[in-house]
Amino acid sequence: MLEVPFEGGCQCGEVRYRCTAPPFVSYTCHCLACQHLTSSAFATCIQVPAEALSVSGSPSFRERQADSGNLLSTAFCATCGSAICSANSARPRIRTIYVGTLERAEDVEINAHIWTKRRLPWVVLPPSHRKFPEAGDWRPDYAREPSRLEG
Ligand SMILES: [Zn+2]
Ligand SMILES: [Zn+2]
Repeated sequence: MLEVPFEGGCQCGEVRYRCTAPPFVSYTCHCLACQHLTSSAFATCIQVPAEALSVSGSPSFRERQADSGNLLSTAFCATCGSAICSANSARPRIRTIYVGTLERAEDVEINAHIWTKRRLPWVVLPPSHRKFPEAGDWRPDYAREPSRLEG
C-alpha cells in the first residue's frame, strides 16, 4: 500500500519529487514508445493529480506526439537520463509518474496492463489483472473525479 506523501527521484539524485495524493490508477504500459523510453520491456506507471506532484532539481523535457495526436511531455534528468514523469496535453490535470523512480516502488500495487498487443512474449501477466490491447479505459478508476480525464 502506497502511503502519501511519497517521494522519489532519478538515478543520480539531482531530480527529486514529492507527491501528496494517492494514485488514481497503477498499471504497466507495453507500447513500443514505453519500451524505448525505459530501455526495457514495459513502463510501470501511476497517475496522480497534477497539483499534488512537485518536482525539484532541474529536469529536462522532451516532447513527442503520440499516435492519438496528443502531445506527451516527459521530464527526465539531464545528468543521468532517468525518466521521471510525463504530462499528456489531452489531460492537463493528470501527471504520470514512472514507478521505478519511487523510493518505495514495492508499495505500488499494479493490477492493470495496457497496450498488451505489444507485450513481449516472455512477459506473463497475472490472470486476475485487467488487460487492454491498446489504451486503457480508466473511467472506473476516476469515478470520484471523472472531470480529470478531460481537458
Ligand atoms: Zn539524475
Ligand atoms: Zn506506453
